[in-house]
Amino acid sequence: MSSKKIVVIPGDGIGPEVTAAAQEILDLAARKAGLALEYTTRLAGGAAIDARGVPLPDETLAAAKTADAVLLGAVGGPKWDSVAPDIRPEKAILGLRKALGLYANLRPVKVSAALAAYSPLKPEIVAGTDILIVRELTGGIYFGPKCESETVDGAERAWDTEVYSVPEVARIVRMACQAAKGRRGKVTSVDKANVLASSRLWRRVATATAQEAGVDIAHMYVDNCAMQLVLGPKTFDVIVTGNLFGDILSDEAAVVAGSIGLLPSASIGDGPGLYEPIHGSAPDIAGQGIANPVGTVLSAAMLLRHSLKAEAPAAAIEQAVDAVLAAGYRTADLYRPGLTKVSTEEMAKLIIKQL
Ligand code: NAD
Repeated sequence: MSSKKIVVIPGDGIGPEVTAAAQEILDLAARKAGLALEYTTRLAGGAAIDARGVPLPDETLAAAKTADAVLLGAVGGPKWDSVAPDIRPEKAILGLRKALGLYANLRPVKVSAALAAYSPLKPEIVAGTDILIVRELTGGIYFGPKCESETVDGAERAWDTEVYSVPEVARIVRMACQAAKGRRGKVTSVDKANVLASSRLWRRVATATAQEAGVDIAHMYVDNCAMQLVLGPKTFDVIVTGNLFGDILSDEAAVVAGSIGLLPSASIGDGPGLYEPIHGSAPDIAGQGIANPVGTVLSAAMLLRHSLKAEAPAAAIEQAVDAVLAAGYRTADLYRPGLTKVSTEEMAKLIIKQL
């Protein structure tokens, strides 16, 4: 059997620590499932600026394009805050998204009973939450025509434009429906169809696409969705929405979970996918061996599920993480008296033992 090519981009700050832990766990889970993985490590972000003068060197991009999937830690840090705007570390992620055609961002938010206490919401409201937010990533108002400044009737103004085409909406809703079939089968499409023409097209296409896919779809205005995420997060299964609404709602949902170090993400297109934790490079704790690796470990599980179509090892990693957290082991960010404090490496070893 041919092996799958994984490009690992540790990046900056805690990136190298959390990707090292995740790679070890990914490798074990894959091997146990009879899947051979071949790794190439490449630079991006501040580390690449230091070594090559650019945040996304050609050799990193070339490796990513020919890989089956990319696992990334995080990029950036105070050291590179004053570099020229066109070579800022985050340009590496934007460049990868663009070059790999990553049009869908998947952000799962799961709150087990053991973690409910970390949420700012009451435990009985959040325990059992299991949402997958599917955000359109390459269209909408972030990429529509814009004007930084013009003067009309003596007043300066600026504008942006929300544009969505039928194929753009159909492909992201199809992806949400496919994901829902492997979950509880319920898609909520979020828009602002009472005000926006682009949302009315979105709603029409979403309805037709879900019907074709044979999946239940409900529609919700974005303002109501923002409230429902706080009032009853357990009522959602898959949420699908455009770029702007998805950007805001996915961060709101992450806060509902209450633990930035635990949450994974996937950015997917028609080629290799990009998998990374939702947190940044945490320069305040970098190099101390105390970072929480779980967000990156769960990103590796998403890599197995979405890019390698290997559900069994993906689920095995998720169950191992759940078991270790349920047993009371915590890295420093989530430690509370009565629990057991562990380092990044110890957390990885516990997950490996569980696997
Ligand atoms: P951050 O997510 O790096 O850190 C916020 C807080 O959460 C810090 O106190 C940090 O110590 C803590 N934290 C984050 N991840 C953790 C983990 N795995 N374990 C334990 N604690 C963790 O956000 P920030 O401080 O706003 O940004 C720091 C740098 O990261 C900036 O340069 C920013 O541009 C960059 N950043 C990168 C990405 C990315 O690579 N995708 C995303 C966000 C921010």
